[in-house]
Amino acid sequence: MRLRNILIVIFIVSVLGLLYVQYQYLRVGLNLAAVQFDEKMAEVVIDTEEGLHHENKLSFLLGKAITRDDSYFSLSLDSVQDASSHFLDDYLKEVMVRHGVNSAYGYVLRNSDTTTYLRPPGYSGGYEKGLSYPVRLQGYLPELTGENLILELQFENLNAYFISQLRGLILPGILFLLVIVGVTVWVMRGFLKQRSLLSVTNEFINNLTHELKTPVFSIGLATRLLTEKKDVDKQEVAEIIKVQLEKLKGHIERVLELASLEEKGEVLGKSVFDLGELIMEVAGEFEGVASLEGLAFTVHNEALGVEVNGMRGHLKNAVDTLLDNARKYSKDPRKVTLGCTVKGGKAFISVADNGVGIAEEEQKKIFNKYYRVSSGDLHNVKGFGLGLHYVKHIAGLHRGRVSLHSAPGKGSEFTLQIPVR
Ligand code: ADP
Repeated sequence: MRLRNILIVIFIVSVLGLLYVQYQYLRVGLNLAAVQFDEKMAEVVIDTEEGLHHENKLSFLLGKAITRDDSYFSLSLDSVQDASSHFLDDYLKEVMVRHGVNSAYGYVLRNSDTTTYLRPPGYSGGYEKGLSYPVRLQGYLPELTGENLILELQFENLNAYFISQLRGLILPGILFLLVIVGVTVWVMRGFLKQRSLLSVTNEFINNLTHELKTPVFSIGLATRLLTEKKDVDKQEVAEIIKVQLEKLKGHIERVLELASLEEKGEVLGKSVFDLGELIMEVAGEFEGVASLEGLAFTVHNEALGVEVNGMRGHLKNAVDTLLDNARKYSKDPRKVTLGCTVKGGKAFISVADNGVGIAEEEQKKIFNKYYRVSSGDLHNVKGFGLGLHYVKHIAGLHRGRVSLHSAPGKGSEFTLQIPVR
């Protein structure tokens, strides 16, 4: 498995593990909250029983409601019961708040049979299915009524209540987890990018060393010939040295030129020129190479008289690079087409070949610095992986872009798009 996949698996497993641990913490938290709640309610039950044990205003009123005795008040029985349920509700609320219980509750005051005497004001049901804490009333009220009286305190869906209490912890927990995930993904992407850049850079250095070795070797050989053998044709050897030195200079210049261009990062030496003329010039130079190599070369130039404000030299180099690639990567019978059309304030300079083509997954990468497609017989073709990166850079400096249409085995068409005046 590749390092990237291993890292992704480790990361996903860690996040899932963290989520599981969080879930277990939540469960433990809920259990503890339930235990704590039970303890508080045990105290509420004791206090409530004590509060209703003796005769006082509340127990007196409750007594009248239970025994349905309206003789003491100048009120209807309904009003007495209504007032009782309100007073009892207020009293219970006060006791619970005192013990730190503030979740929604209901109550029922009943005897040990099925007779219900009182419910909370505006009672609409729903509390019976949850938890219930019965208060067995002693003293004044059972004695008055001659019955076993039970005041049941009822709660529905306590888990939702506990979770709402823990919200202050759950939300930051989720937020921090998301931040950790985001930062990790970001760091991982950077790390993987660096790694691939490193391997691509190493490949470039290998290529460059290889390319530099050949002329250096030839020059070494020629120099030895000159110093060791007397009867060599000096002119011929000097010619070899000259050609190889030119090659060496060319390699060094290409690397340095791109580096300095990237460093400056802005369009220097801009001028207005005729794009059509530039295309003619490039085409003229390429025609020589094409006929030498037996390559069919066609030009469609619609840009004569069209002006561009830019860096003529660099733009020419960019088109040259595209043509050179088309030449390098074309297949028999070799065909290369250079076209230039103008539409909607933009010039489209296209270079098409009938070459090896480029697979979909490689199409974005080939514009990266030093990148070369490393499959098939492409290794036979020399290069540093700098050309297309340079073309893209130049397009960018002209506020334009490069696009590519290609399929393996079917050839490629690169289009350089730049604004015209
Ligand atoms: P170089 O040609 O020096 O390797 P480039 O940056 O010009 O570098 O191109 C990058 C890679 O893109 C090449 O190595 C090659 O695999 C691929 N490529 C470029 N142009 C073509 C083309 N016309 N047809 C097929 N593949 C191409």
